[in-house]
Amino acid sequence: MEYLSLPVHLITDQVIRRFQQKYWRKSIDKCWIWQSSHTGANKGNRRAPIFKIDGINYVATRIAYYLHYGIDPESKCVCHDCFPNKDNSSCVNPEHLWLGTMSENILDAFYKGVQPSFGNRKMSDDDVREARNLFYNQGWSIKDLMDRYNLKYGAMNKLINYQTFIHLID
Ligand SMILES: [Zn+2]
Repeated sequence: MEYLSLPVHLITDQVIRRFQQKYWRKSIDKCWIWQSSHTGANKGNRRAPIFKIDGINYVATRIAYYLHYGIDPESKCVCHDCFPNKDNSSCVNPEHLWLGTMSENILDAFYKGVQPSFGNRKMSDDDVREARNLFYNQGWSIKDLMDRYNLKYGAMNKLINYQTFIHLID
């Protein structure tokens, strides 16, 4: 997908108010779910929330990122790391968004979907059981576990939430 630069000069207070009415914000730290239009899913891409400005569709996460951080993502991808449990493509909470290059985005999707053990380190079944035990019973954070096992957030988050290594439900 190619990305258009945001029409920053057209993002007026009125446009911002219209934008803010399009998502459901349960709380500051949960996912803010886009309630309006999405792109169609094609070629394995996830559906992306869209927001129209002056007749042109933009990816809503890119606008959310701009409104919060003051940075137009331009050629970069806006990726998700939603808390607590998923990579939620409808989420426009800027705290859950990060800027990646295209290759980082592809790697991240790869991590999150296809190949949970891809990375610097492969997780053995025992590692997975231990990590879950540390998280659920010992009060470790995902950040602590990322450091211990040298895994990225997305991979660790999925592991902890039983979205990967699902054969290890005990
Ligand atoms: Zn989110």
